[in-house]
Amino acid sequence: MSETIDQISKVHRPVLGEDIPIFVFRAFRHFTANYVTQMLGRSATTVFQNAGRDLGRDAGALLKRPTLDEYLKEVVTFTTNLRIGNLKPVEINQKHMILGLEECITCVGMDNIGKRICHFEVGFVAGIVEAFTGTRVRGHESKCNAAGEGICEVTIDLGEA
Ligand SMILES: [Zn+2]
Repeated sequence: MSETIDQISKVHRPVLGEDIPIFVFRAFRHFTANYVTQMLGRSATTVFQNAGRDLGRDAGALLKRPTLDEYLKEVVTFTTNLRIGNLKPVEINQKHMILGLEECITCVGMDNIGKRICHFEVGFVAGIVEAFTGTRVRGHESKCNAAGEGICEVTIDLGEA
């Protein structure tokens, strides 16, 4: 049994409140990623991507709208309101979907470490797309702030994976 979005969204911190510095989120996020990578090597990418995918599917089910256009608007509003980042559709056609994520919560502003690291976000976007299409899709990070590329960008391949 895993926790649901509804369960983990219930916060009761009357004194400390609901906000934390981004740095704290990143400490959990990056130290966990480093450790899992030490343990699992390259399959760590799959772990984070598939975790993001599960979350994306659940979030997508809550945000679902009848048309792709309305749905993506809803997703953009959701990611902005939660300050995950500013999601910008770059290119959408039958073959693929390219979405930029400006001000990515995970990596914007950090040092260039020469690699793309937002595997969770890639999975999240893939899961969001899957909630709409009902089929499994492949995704990869085509740009990342952590690699010095100035933005994070997720490319989703719409062929079946
Ligand atoms: Zn990134």
